[in-house]
Amino acid sequence: MSEIWFFGVVAALFGLVIGSFLNVCIYRFPRDLSVVAPRSFCPSCEKPIAWYDNIPVLSYFLLGAKCRGCRAPISKRYPLVEFLTGLLFAASVWKMGITPDAAKLCVFCALTVGLIFMDLEERILADEMTVGGMTFGFLLSLFLPMPVFIGHFVLPPEWRESYLSLGESLLGGLLPASCLWGIGEIYYRLRGREGLGFGDVKMIAMIGAFYGLQGSLVTLIIGSLAGSVFGAIYTIATRKDARTYELPFGSFLGLAALVPPFVFGQPGGSLVVPW
Ligand SMILES: [Zn+2]
Repeated sequence: MSEIWFFGVVAALFGLVIGSFLNVCIYRFPRDLSVVAPRSFCPSCEKPIAWYDNIPVLSYFLLGAKCRGCRAPISKRYPLVEFLTGLLFAASVWKMGITPDAAKLCVFCALTVGLIFMDLEERILADEMTVGGMTFGFLLSLFLPMPVFIGHFVLPPEWRESYLSLGESLLGGLLPASCLWGIGEIYYRLRGREGLGFGDVKMIAMIGAFYGLQGSLVTLIIGSLAGSVFGAIYTIATRKDARTYELPFGSFLGLAALVPPFVFGQPGGSLVVPW
């Protein structure tokens, strides 16, 4: 077995475990509960879950999708998030090679998968993951230089590489976020109700902190288009009131953000879309 396959499988197993932790975050962050203690419990009967009933993906099927104690159904979201995180971690290694960029992409995928499902279920994008992820992305850009794009036009070229990279990360995070915030404000003034949550603004800033400006702009455009088309079709098909239906916009941003690195990402290079 070649090295890349070996590390791909290791990454997949690690991803399964991280996915299991993401499930805890998705449930607890919106409820302001600690993700450290107490240990995993059934949300229905609140009994602690034994380790052998808490094996990623496997336990869901072994338990027949029911809690061992109270027989309450377990949401499909649990195995789905675990499987998806495992798959994305393996794909990160296969795409980026055994590089620091692969590790960076894994962190990004974990944050994004968590946010996609949190928004879908709770219509909340927790600061722990948006603001926390953004801060981590900014710091990481100092140590793992990202290609400079917008920075060429606005940053002094004599700056050292790590500062240019941090500048790119900051601009990539804050410019699209300001645009989105501006659009939200205009909508609010015109319609007198909130069309965009501030969580969406913080999420696109997190995406830009990891991707730089090109990646975050592409994500914002694709995510907005996909969200609007889906929202229109969904409200017509289900006859929901389009004025009160709350679209999980963060889920669409997340989906749009997960595709580019696996299509355009360069091993040992960047996650930036090359245009
Ligand atoms: Zn139970």
